[in-house]
Amino acid sequence: MSVRLAGRMQKLAPYLFAELDRKKREAQARGLDVISLTIGDPDLPTPSAIVEAGQRALADPANHRYPAYAGGMPFRNAAARWLKRRYGVDLDAEKEIVALIGTKEGIFHLPFVLMDPGDVALVPDPGYPVYSIATRLIGGEVHWLPLREENGFLPDLAGIPAEVLAKARVLWVNYPNNPTAAVADEGFFRRAVGFCREHGIILAVDSAYSEIAFDGYRAPSALQLPGAKEVTVEFHSLSKTYSMCGWRVGFAAGNAEVVSALARLKSNMDSGVFGAIQQAALSAMETWPGHLSEVVDVYRRRRDALVEELRRGGLNPPNPRATFYLWLKIPGGDDQAFAGALVEKTGVLVAPGSGFGPSGKGFVRLSLTVPEDRLREAGRRVARFLARA
Ligand SMILES: *Cc1c(COP(=O)(O)O)cnc(C)c1O
Repeated sequence: MSVRLAGRMQKLAPYLFAELDRKKREAQARGLDVISLTIGDPDLPTPSAIVEAGQRALADPANHRYPAYAGGMPFRNAAARWLKRRYGVDLDAEKEIVALIGTKEGIFHLPFVLMDPGDVALVPDPGYPVYSIATRLIGGEVHWLPLREENGFLPDLAGIPAEVLAKARVLWVNYPNNPTAAVADEGFFRRAVGFCREHGIILAVDSAYSEIAFDGYRAPSALQLPGAKEVTVEFHSLSKTYSMCGWRVGFAAGNAEVVSALARLKSNMDSGVFGAIQQAALSAMETWPGHLSEVVDVYRRRRDALVEELRRGGLNPPNPRATFYLWLKIPGGDDQAFAGALVEKTGVLVAPGSGFGPSGKGFVRLSLTVPEDRLREAGRRVARFLARA
C-alpha cells in the first residue's frame, strides 16, 4: 500500500539544501576533492565561554523540567537588555519578547497567526525560503518583491499594485540580506515602517546577520524608528552571531499583539526552548560583544581572500559589507546549469540563485564558511572554470 499524503504536502518540495547535499555526495563518490560553499552554517565552534555556561546549566535539575513556553524571564530580560545596548531601543521583556526554537521556527509560524487563506505576504525574491513556504502552506498567497541589482537589492515598495496591497498582511524584509549580502540603511527601514503603518501591514524583519558586518558597517534595527512597534516584529537569531546554529535558539521582539499571538500558538504546539540552552544564549547576550570582533575578522579575511582570487582570475565580484555570503553574477544566466557543471568539473559546490526565488536566476551564492586556504582554492577553481567557459 502506498501512503496517501495530505494535499498540502504537494506544496512542500524537499528543502532546498537537501537537494544540494545530494549533489555533493555524488561528486564525492566520483572521487573529486569537493569544496562546498552552499550552506550558511558557521564552521567556527560556539565560543567556549558560552559552551561552558550551557554545560553548567545542563547539570541544574531546574532545567530538566518543562521550560516556560515563551522563554524564562531571565532570557527575555537579557534579550531586552541586548536590544537596548545594541540599538538603544526599549522593549517590555514580558510583553514584547518571545523565545524561539531558532528564528526559523518563529518565521515559519508568523503566517499562522497573521494570515487567513487568500491573504497576501510580500516576500523578497530572492530570499530565505521559509517566508514563502509557510505562507503557501496556510493557503496564503505570495507576492514576490524582486530584489534587483540596480536597486541595491532593495524591494520597490512603491511598485506594489494597489489590489495586492489591499490583501497584504505582512511585508518580509531581511538585511543584511541572505542571499544577496546587500545591506539596508536606516532610511530604508524608515520607509518600510512608514509604508506598513500607512497600509496596515505587519513588518517582519529578519535580522539573522545583524552582527556579521565589516568595514565599520553597523546594521540598524527597524525598532529604532518612531512608531515602529505599532507594526514591527523583528527576529533575532543567535545562530550566525555566535556560531550556535545547532543549539536552536533565538527570539522575536516588537509589537505586543503579534508577540503574544506567536507565544499563544507556540504554547499549543511546542514546549519552549530547553532551559540550559536559554542560559547559554543569555550568557552570550550578556557578554556581547565579547569576542565577536574576532569572529567577524575571520569572515572578513575570508571575504578578502575570495574576492582577491576571483579578481586575480579576471572577474569583478562584489565586496559584501555584511553576512558571510558572496552573491556572484554568472555569465549565460543559467545558474542551475552553471552550478551543475561547476561541481562536476571542479568539485566546487555553490548554491544556484534561482533556488532562492525566480529573481535569483543568473546568480550563485558562495558561503564564507570554510577555512581561508580552501576558500582561496575554491576561488581559483571558479575563476579558472569561468576563464575556460
Ligand atoms: C540562518 C537564517 C535564519 C535562521 O536562523 P535560526 O538558526 O533558525 O535562528 C533566518 N533567516 C535567515 C535569512 C537565515 O539565513
